[in-house]
Amino acid sequence: MGEKGCIKCGSTNAATKEVAMTGTGLSKLFDVQHNQFTVVYCKNCGYAEFYHKKSSTASNLLDLFFGQ
Ligand SMILES: [Zn+2]
Repeated sequence: MGEKGCIKCGSTNAATKEVAMTGTGLSKLFDVQHNQFTVVYCKNCGYAEFYHKKSSTASNLLDLFFGQ
């Protein structure tokens, strides 16, 4: 215990990328500017989690991704 890593493969080789989700379904109910997300993904196995951009900083998101 104590080691942080991808919940799928245990790798700590992760990266973040900002993405926007717009245009279809429920997202039409919201302002486009509020549909910005940050995806944190494992470079080893491809597992990804999405976080709303306003909820956290990038460094905080890596902690969330690894810190189960
Ligand atoms: Zn992984």
